[in-house]
Amino acid sequence: MAFVGRSNVGKSSLLNALVGQRVAKISATPGKTRMLNVYAVSGAYFLDLPGYGYSRASKADRVSFRRLVDHALRREGLAGVVWLLDLRREPSPDDRAMQDLLAEGGCPVLAALTKGDKLPQGQRRSRERELRADLDVPEDQIIVTSARTGEGVAELREAIGTLLRDAVT
Ligand code: GDP
Repeated sequence: MAFVGRSNVGKSSLLNALVGQRVAKISATPGKTRMLNVYAVSGAYFLDLPGYGYSRASKADRVSFRRLVDHALRREGLAGVVWLLDLRREPSPDDRAMQDLLAEGGCPVLAALTKGDKLPQGQRRSRERELRADLDVPEDQIIVTSARTGEGVAELREAIGTLLRDAVT
């Protein structure tokens, strides 16, 4: 499984919540996680791709990031990608570029909408509806999550498990 999302989307926090232990270092400065990290969790590999869209990233950084993602998505045996999007925000141009890369890559995508706890119920539901209509991801592959409250974490873990099992058989 590969995890992608813009810097500060809550990727490290969600990874830690999913795995149930501190695997990724949570960075105080957005864009700090530059390197590709790989974790072995219950016999599966989790590729933690660097956060994208950090405004101070240079053009060269953007190009090398794109190459890295392209390469990661074409890896043989990649069961799927968890694409993280902040529930509160409109997808950025970088998110749209990622959407295109994911579509080209052709492997299953789970969209994790992060920081669900940050919005009151009503707003949350309307944002969720908007994003669901907007993202080109099947309905049941979009999950609202919160690393803080644990909401959606079990569901996402389950969906990842299904992709991993499908990839093996
Ligand atoms: P990354 O850059 O994508 O790895 O993001 P981090 O996991 O480092 O999180 C970025 C910031 O968002 C940190 O200040 C986190 O405490 C906060 N954050 C992450 N997940 C959640 C969440 O589910 N709820 C809330 N309220 N804050 C979150």
